[in-house]
Amino acid sequence: MFTLDRVSKRFQGAAALDGITLAFESGRTSVLIGPSGCGKSTLLRLLIGLLLPDEGTLTFDGRPLAVASMRGLRHRMGYVIQQGGLFPHLTARDNITLMARHLGWRQEQIEPRLEVLAALTHFPADGLGRYPNELSGGQNQRVALMRALMLDPEVLLLDEPLGALDPMIRYELQEDLKQIFAALGKTVILVTHDLAEAAFLGHTIILMREGRILQIGRLAEMMDAPTEPFVEQFIRAQRNHFGP
Ligand code: ADP
Ligand code: MG
Repeated sequence: MFTLDRVSKRFQGAAALDGITLAFESGRTSVLIGPSGCGKSTLLRLLIGLLLPDEGTLTFDGRPLAVASMRGLRHRMGYVIQQGGLFPHLTARDNITLMARHLGWRQEQIEPRLEVLAALTHFPADGLGRYPNELSGGQNQRVALMRALMLDPEVLLLDEPLGALDPMIRYELQEDLKQIFAALGKTVILVTHDLAEAAFLGHTIILMREGRILQIGRLAEMMDAPTEPFVEQFIRAQRNHFGP
């Protein structure tokens, strides 16, 4: 679906991404994980076309990602950021349907789609008329997810979508996300810094550090055969999630 070939991105001379070569599989959930500042969000922003690489090439569906093609492609990708990024002055319904209305969808197309999405994300119908500050953090993330899914994109990019939620709500949404990803069969690329979440949601885990990829695989593979001492350290640092 996406490929990156020796992609680098620098900010003020410092490499945020340093020669990344990677392919994301269609219809699977890939999870980007690594310490804060390792380049996870930068990688997602390159995929969605919010940033351009300094070096290397990116392709989507076999074609190079270029500024010119981004406008059309953008509708084939859904994007959710950590705090949801909802417009505070719009109701949940208006946040979700903004782009569809902009593209000229008719009300008869919009309403059934909203119903499908609310059922999929377990969002109460009476919440659609509320503003983000009248909804809980978990509900707002469900709204952000519905907004990302509204145009039925092929790809879903999620940047720490559960990062700001407290543990019980987070647990609930993890369960729901897993079901949703399985039901939709879309290509999902999710960023988290929680290894248990990565292992629960991801078919493939991509462990990054300082703008590079250290290891790609399943958690068990990383535990059994770490490619570098840091992989082991990273897993050990999160051991409290897995018990003694
Ligand atoms: P992560 O999401 O893994 O925490 P980021 O991709 O946000 O990491 O950031 C990677 C590195 O690039 C960090 O050192 C960060 O400070 C830097 N960086 C990211 N975005 C910008 C920006 N717009 N301007 C300057 N530096 C940035
Ligand atoms: Mg980030």
